[in-house]
Amino acid sequence: MRVLVTGGAGYVGSVSVERLVEAGHHVVALDSLVTGHRRAVTDGARFVQGTLRDREALERMLREERIEAVLHCAARSLVGQSVLDPALYYNENVAGGLGLLDALRAAGVERLVFSSTAAVYGVPASVPVPEDAPLAPINPYGETKRVFEGAMRWYGEAYGLRGVALRYFNVAGASERNGEQHDPETHLIPNVLAAALGRATLSVFGTDYPTPDGTCIRDYIHVADLADAHLAALELTARPDPGGGAPGGAGLTVCNLGSGSGFSVLQVIRAAESVVGQPIPYEVGPRRPGDPPALVASNARARELLGWTPRRGSLEEMIGSAWRWLQTHPSGYAA
Ligand code: UDP
Repeated sequence: MRVLVTGGAGYVGSVSVERLVEAGHHVVALDSLVTGHRRAVTDGARFVQGTLRDREALERMLREERIEAVLHCAARSLVGQSVLDPALYYNENVAGGLGLLDALRAAGVERLVFSSTAAVYGVPASVPVPEDAPLAPINPYGETKRVFEGAMRWYGEAYGLRGVALRYFNVAGASERNGEQHDPETHLIPNVLAAALGRATLSVFGTDYPTPDGTCIRDYIHVADLADAHLAALELTARPDPGGGAPGGAGLTVCNLGSGSGFSVLQVIRAAESVVGQPIPYEVGPRRPGDPPALVASNARARELLGWTPRRGSLEEMIGSAWRWLQTHPSGYAA
């Protein structure tokens, strides 16, 4: 298929571009390069620098490239930043997303897979979280993702958009080619590995949560498993009814992507210590505002609908791949 990946130079997007190219698809990677890295886009894909706000250029490109399906990863994605600067998140994630939806309509592209997030659930009442849990985001990041899911649903009902929204839990790891490089870096695993390299001080955000060791529990999945799920979801949109009547309403199919089990912050640090073969120093800090104690996905629907199951699910495998990427890319994407 001929696929457009928005945010194709970002962490999740670039690994998905690799996977799609490997599977023999024609891939166009669109990225503004504000947070993405040109070097992250494999030579097997066409790279276009641009934004979703330029609707005309987008529509022209969709037509010229005869795009059949879109994987929409482009977004702002830092929770803390979204609280401080919600306008950025509404402009890029909502207004930018609507620009994309309108360009798709104009160009007659009906297949769309969206990178959504577990942040749409806010603080879930219980875990594992099923897809029909109430949507109650507690920050602008999660809210803007929820709003875009809503637009997809109504565009699906009214205009025939065949959409799948994938709600990611915690993504980790690297391919051989691409890894995680954010500035600033807020995620746990890159911060743990930076501490192992002596580049940063690691702080554990709270040890007084109602969990067995007092630290937060998260559901980690390997970025390469996520890329497999993207491919399966894109294939699903070839069907007139991607959800096959799955609950959750007409117009949009939603699917959690997680492993179904969780690890605490301290378990992640221990696993990283065994990967790097040395103790990793950390200090205990206060809780980070907005962190739910535990977030674990129910992934039954992903298994059933996408035929997807995480294949690289151990912490050692995820952290090991991130560690290898850091060794082979000591300056990251810098020349
Ligand atoms: N965390 C931490 N120290 C860090 C970064 C994260 O203790 O330097 C904790 C954070 O409070 C959360 C978990 O690690 O409980 C995962 O955080 P991350 O930012 O990686 O992902 P999130 O779950 O927020 O999407």
